[in-house]
Amino acid sequence: MPIFEYRCRACGEEFECLILRSSGPPHCPACDSRDLEKLISRYVVSSDYTRKRARRSARAHASGIRREKQHEDHRELHEHLAEDH
Ligand SMILES: [Zn+2]
Repeated sequence: MPIFEYRCRACGEEFECLILRSSGPPHCPACDSRDLEKLISRYVVSSDYTRKRARRSARAHASGIRREKQHEDHRELHEHLAEDH
């Protein structure tokens, strides 16, 4: 099953999409835009893309951390979220 990676030109959201013949064209899960850029490979990335991935992994990390570090990382998480608005 083909899974493609897309980037939304409207809001910058990046997501993977399983393409089924019956499902029609993909749309952004964040803003529902269909103005998407298909990413050729996750290994050929722009610096902007890399930065976004790093930010996302920091978020994922903050949600799964141990209790000892939670306060510190929670503050970082809020800083990351603030950058998006
Ligand atoms: Zn979007």
